Amino acid sequence: MVKNWFIFNSKNEILLKNNEIPVSENPPLECQKGNNIFELDDNCSGFLSEENAPQGFEFIGLRKSYDILNKEIHYKAGKFSELVNFDATIRFCSICGGKMEYSSPISKKCNNCGKEIWPRINPAVIVLIYKGKDEILLSKGYGFRGTFYGLTAGFLETGESLEECIKREVKEETNLNIKNIKYFASQPWPYPNQEMIGFFAEYESGEIKIQEEELSDCKWFKRGELPVIPTKISMARMLIDYWIDNRDKF
Ligand SMILES: [Zn+2]
Repeated sequence: MVKNWFIFNSKNEILLKNNEIPVSENPPLECQKGNNIFELDDNCSGFLSEENAPQGFEFIGLRKSYDILNKEIHYKAGKFSELVNFDATIRFCSICGGKMEYSSPISKKCNNCGKEIWPRINPAVIVLIYKGKDEILLSKGYGFRGTFYGLTAGFLETGESLEECIKREVKEETNLNIKNIKYFASQPWPYPNQEMIGFFAEYESGEIKIQEEELSDCKWFKRGELPVIPTKISMARMLIDYWIDNRDKF
């Protein structure tokens, strides 16, 4: 039976042929000895390989493949990458050093002390801040690739609600206060181990003062005058597109 092969190397790069997931009866590379072959559905399998890409194939970074593969395939690639990474890195118990063995398809248990763990997921929030009906706040981060402007984002800290996290990140990065925080959507962000949770919030008070270690620029932009914004399928872009298309809702 012909299958889609989601094959990763130890650098979390994925094997592609002509910018697509290889499709064939047998995989183009062998699974690394001692590692699992994962099945997501009847025609998708994934595993780790230490072999070099065969002629006509190439390994490319998972994050880069996001701009190449379609959304559904990339979503599967992200899931496989997390499973393959969990399989390869969680071998021994962090408490007693015992051997970790699968206790379900997505968890492992120590065969000595019984400690059980699941693949780690770090929640991250991202927020579109609007002022009135026609302005949004966009910023340029030092970590951003290219010259585009994006939204304020950050990781959830222990003991924090998502709303508290958003308020803290916005205050730290821009010095602004916000209100009316509303959930929009979420998205796995496997680069690695993240879940992006998107929100809208309304400007409340304060003058922009940027956190210089994080941002190189931050300002209000008007409808029809937006700078270069993140690519399609990112949560930032989904939030911005929703704001552009739904003026009556803000
Ligand atoms: Zn243990």
